[in-house]
Amino acid sequence: MVIMEQLQQLLEKLSNAHGISGSEGSIKDIMEEEIKPYVDEIRTDKMGNLIATKKGTGPTIMLASHMDEIGLMVKYIDDNGFLRFVKIGGWFDPTLHSQRVIVHTKNGPLTGVIGSKPPHVMKDEDRKKPVKADDMFIDIGAKDKEDAEKLGVEVGSPISIDRQFAKLANGKITGKAFDNRAGVAMLIDAMKQLSKMNVKATVYAVGTVQEEVGLKGARTSAFGLNPDVAIATDVTIPGDHPGIEKKDSALEIGKGPVITIVDGGGRGLIASPVVVKWLRAAAESNNIPHQMDVGDGGTTDATSIHLTREGIPSSVISVPTRYIHSPVEVIDISDLQASADLIVKAVKTAYKYF
Ligand SMILES: [Zn+2]
Repeated sequence: MVIMEQLQQLLEKLSNAHGISGSEGSIKDIMEEEIKPYVDEIRTDKMGNLIATKKGTGPTIMLASHMDEIGLMVKYIDDNGFLRFVKIGGWFDPTLHSQRVIVHTKNGPLTGVIGSKPPHVMKDEDRKKPVKADDMFIDIGAKDKEDAEKLGVEVGSPISIDRQFAKLANGKITGKAFDNRAGVAMLIDAMKQLSKMNVKATVYAVGTVQEEVGLKGARTSAFGLNPDVAIATDVTIPGDHPGIEKKDSALEIGKGPVITIVDGGGRGLIASPVVVKWLRAAAESNNIPHQMDVGDGGTTDATSIHLTREGIPSSVISVPTRYIHSPVEVIDISDLQASADLIVKAVKTAYKYF
């Protein structure tokens, strides 16, 4: 279990680090440092994507993991020094209520809290409604606007959730931004394993930017790389806890990586049948537990990659993750390890399919 422990420590480091869409720098630094020893070439493109290449003779495979997490950004500092913000990415407003946050200023990080009108002074009918993000603000303890500015806050300062990684029972772990630091950790671990093997394929391990706000970095990097095939690594919604039924998601945590057949009800991705066949065979022939998914909800980088140029055959390997887009996402570490292992097995046999 030493190997799984290493992967868990890597995810802890990535989850505790901060990088909202458009400000992925510190995640990129970690990824670069971790992956560098295992690849032949590494560079950052104009968009900010990290592209690490392990050279082979072919085919070319793009493995894409988005580095960004959903966050907030300072929109306006009021006269009393309270910060108003916009949401960057898909927040469910009640999730933000009463969170502790970090404002990333030009002078360094500042702790803040998301405040709102006290329920004690609300009208009865308002108390029954969830508070909207629009009615929330961030208190950093500033005396007034000038003081907030002196502390380094400015319009455009990125804000992320302040929450540390923790262990739950039975190999389950919790933290913020497992979407998509789990995908990043999966990619790093896979490249580490592949570096010790004789592999025919050329692998582009790409840390993409701005997935949560429109699958953007994946689109430009896929255009630049023009791979023969692509896999996005991400997280996806299981149906194994209260509030959701199996008919909404048949996936469970602890049952292995998820191979996407369709997501977003087909409006996101309808995966190339050859890619699905390839990934499924890699899982089956190596006894890797896995789950096939036809989803109606979210989508991933594979959606923009597969529509690049004349079309790039793509699918997704994801880790079933509870409470996605909250500061308390939960995964089973064994799913993450099995996901990385599945990528490795797939890359090794890619030449038979592409
Ligand atoms: Zn994601």
